[in-house]
Amino acid sequence: MLYLDNSATTKIHPEVLEAMMPYLQEEYGNPSSKFYSLAENAKKAVAKAREQVATLLGCDPDEVVFTSGATESNNMIIKGIADYYGREAGANNRLLTTKVEHPSVIETFNFLGERGYNVSFLDVDQYARVGVEQVKEAAAKMQPLLTSIMWGNNEIGSLNPIEELAKVFEENRQFFHTDATQVIGKVPVDMSKMPGLRFLSMSGHKIGGPKGVGAAIIRKQSKEIYTRLTPLMHGGGQENNYRSGTLAVHNIVGLGKAAEVAETNLENNVQRLKELENYLTDIFKKNLTGKVKFNSDEQDKIPGLISLQFIGVNNELLIKKLSAYIALSSGSACSSSKPSHVLNAAGKSLEEVRQTIRITLDSKIDESDLKVFDKIK
Ligand code: PMP
Repeated sequence: MLYLDNSATTKIHPEVLEAMMPYLQEEYGNPSSKFYSLAENAKKAVAKAREQVATLLGCDPDEVVFTSGATESNNMIIKGIADYYGREAGANNRLLTTKVEHPSVIETFNFLGERGYNVSFLDVDQYARVGVEQVKEAAAKMQPLLTSIMWGNNEIGSLNPIEELAKVFEENRQFFHTDATQVIGKVPVDMSKMPGLRFLSMSGHKIGGPKGVGAAIIRKQSKEIYTRLTPLMHGGGQENNYRSGTLAVHNIVGLGKAAEVAETNLENNVQRLKELENYLTDIFKKNLTGKVKFNSDEQDKIPGLISLQFIGVNNELLIKKLSAYIALSSGSACSSSKPSHVLNAAGKSLEEVRQTIRITLDSKIDESDLKVFDKIK
């Protein structure tokens, strides 16, 4: 099976699995317990993972909150800020995002909209991106409490100018969040250089880590002052009161190791993904002139993600037909029953949406694996 759906999830990295195993076996302590070695070992392992994630993202370890994944991180940050600052009558309850976010952002906004928050969704260009001036103007006009804009789009691969947007939000001092789930390990992320970027979401299973773990980065207001938000989970006060519940030590250790691997391999990974992507797009361009159409801006997108249309071919039929040999996607695994809101917002017709295939590569693939595509004429 040739697995080309790495934006949906990735195979666990061997080093990650190795790092996790002791915490599923002999090292089963609860890191919130005290004094005895099983607990202390678990605590140390969690602290190490926190360092690893912080190093990858350029933040302080105490700004890393472990969650069950990016869905939870997005919910936690958006609902948490909305509730803490925007709930009372007369408070600023305006929230801004885009029309092409992951459902865990869009549906959180819809949920808050139904509860009286003032929510707005920005339009996007043909590649599902927002522009700096566009966001600057909207933020000046609306004065949102929080703006949430994804770094890289999971369906079409386009990148938003998050560094430049962080400057806008540094100047206007409004809260800014990005869902960075799809760019980790593929784009350098250094939050220390972006003080305007206050919140970030990421997930373990997209970067060779285990499923069911992720992180929400909640930057402090200053060295000593934590940013307050209402938690989703109330209970024993773990994770600095942001997220109660016994920590999933094995998963957290796996996330930490995956972060370390992503950091170490970033340059090689990007280079290899670009090589493989060029190899494959050249095949399509050579063999299928006039029969394929690329949805993404080829210069400015997540390396290794190809979103393209096979003109006149129904995507689901094609994916099914190839499914014994190749794992492909029509866009996202999260909302595959509905036609893509992303491609729709990028101006694609229903017909174009139904012709779209998403191929997401992995740096360990070999060119010879991709030769099968040379047979499609
Ligand atoms: N945001 C984006 C951009 C994603 O691609 C995904 C996963 N499809 C998520 C959030 C949700 O991540 P998780 O599976 O960790 O909840």
